[in-house]
Amino acid sequence: MLSELSALSGGINADRFRKILSFQDKGASCIYLPIERKLQFYKKAPRLNNLTTKQLNNLKFSHYLCGASLSKHFMKQKIVIIGAGFAGIQLAQNLDSDVFDILLIDKINHHQFQPLFYQVATSQIEPSSISFPIRNIFKRKKNIQIRMAEALEIQAEQKTLVTSIGNFQYDHLVLAMGCKTNFFGNSEIEKHALTLKSTAEAINIRNHVLETFESIISSNDYDKAALQNLVIVGAGPTGVELAGSFAEIKHHVLPKDYPGIDFSKFNIYLIEGSAHTLNNMSEKSKRDSENYLRKMGVSILTSKFVKQYDGRTLTLNDGQTIETYTVIWAAGVVANGIKGLSNDSIAPGNRIKVNRQNLIQGYENIYAIGDIAYMETPLYPKGHPQLANVAINQAKNLSQNLGLQLKGQTLKDYEYKDLGTMATIGRNKAVVDFGKLHLKGYIAWFIWMSLHLMLILSTRNKLIIFINWAWAYMTKDTSLRLILKGNKKE
Ligand SMILES: Cc1cc2nc3c(=O)[nH]c(=O)nc-3n(C[C@H](O)[C@H](O)[C@H](O)COP(=O)(O)OP(=O)(O)OC[C@H]3O[C@@H](n4cnc5c(N)ncnc54)[C@H](O)[C@@H]3O)c2cc1C
Repeated sequence: MLSELSALSGGINADRFRKILSFQDKGASCIYLPIERKLQFYKKAPRLNNLTTKQLNNLKFSHYLCGASLSKHFMKQKIVIIGAGFAGIQLAQNLDSDVFDILLIDKINHHQFQPLFYQVATSQIEPSSISFPIRNIFKRKKNIQIRMAEALEIQAEQKTLVTSIGNFQYDHLVLAMGCKTNFFGNSEIEKHALTLKSTAEAINIRNHVLETFESIISSNDYDKAALQNLVIVGAGPTGVELAGSFAEIKHHVLPKDYPGIDFSKFNIYLIEGSAHTLNNMSEKSKRDSENYLRKMGVSILTSKFVKQYDGRTLTLNDGQTIETYTVIWAAGVVANGIKGLSNDSIAPGNRIKVNRQNLIQGYENIYAIGDIAYMETPLYPKGHPQLANVAINQAKNLSQNLGLQLKGQTLKDYEYKDLGTMATIGRNKAVVDFGKLHLKGYIAWFIWMSLHLMLILSTRNKLIIFINWAWAYMTKDTSLRLILKGNKKE
């Protein structure tokens, strides 16, 4: 047995190997590990070969699991996480630092709080208050390495991830890459429409809209016709929140900055393919959100699809056209892809099929969590909604399961607990569905604000956002209407 294990462990010197074994078996709970798990640990024993005898003798067994104890000192499991969104950040925060070494990869250097993008786009809060440098989040975690890189390809056989800055080996790989805007294959719309899937894109919308008002002042009638129409496509929460927010600054904020503009001629359109706004919420929320928006002067066009947009003329499926230089596309998302996964593991919306423990179908050590994961459950036979709450809780479940797996214990299935759905339309105007309970108006708006403040990562940012909101509430004004653009070098 000893020589067998010795061979398995890569031919480690027999005397040292005996020491390692006796040291491992001193760990009481080690006895309860299944033999396969023991072998897995022993296979990693060569790493211990580099230790001095003194170091070997000094190893401690205070941990509940001999593997954990070994890992703590020398042979942690290597987890590579792609994406520092809600899911990736939560997983990295929850994994046991004694057992796992983590490499967190993201193509940008900050975590983004997407639910408040629309407030950046409408000049209500600063971009920095919803963007958190990833290195700062984990500055006290010694076991987490951060790399700013784009993940390009998985080489599952070699347990290797190919990225824009080189290749990385892993024991476990977790995909938490979220979604991107879905243009449903229409490249013309993609070329001309504005999107809201990153802080940078939110700033882009803010710049564009403020530049539009600068242009209206000095434009000729031909251009004015298109400058004075702002179109939002998609009346889910993002579209509704944007439309309400633009309507508020149109009435209360912008006229003070641009007294020369006739704002009664500035139109906000909200276009939706289904029959109602907030189609995933209760009938009451649909009705209330439409009433609020109409009263705020938003033109809602439901059961209509955008067929084409060439940068000036937007054409609907029934032939109606709208002249506009501003189209914000909030009509759907599709999961970010990566090369190297088998086609069998891809579900509709480019999501990745996972089992109840987020393990990707057909793989032993590659997981998907958050928006990118497609998990069928009895409660959600067509997959979970793509929400921050799902991403956060799938990450928590997976971190727990990876620990349980090491101990050889039974893994836990994930299920989404619907804590309610909400959307805000403007000052004192929001809708909330908690099961059968429907709330609207001030109370719903207050709940919406409190919950979003709670979810924001740092205390400093919670405070900044709270002050901004309080200031805007009292003065009906914000002072964040900056057009910020980099100078291009020749
Ligand atoms: C405008 C807007 C408003 C929203 N409002 C709400 C709301 O009110 N409530 C709610 O619950 N949900 C809301 N959502 C949805 C919520 O934001 C998502 O469900 C959540 O962000 C999903 O988390 P995730 O970790 O799966 O992905 P994300 O948070 O999207 O994170 C993915 C990360 O992966 C990175 N990445 C992607 N591809 C690569 C690659 N190839 N290499 C390296 N890094 C990569 C990205 O840069 C990003 O940081 C909103 C979304 C948007 C866009």
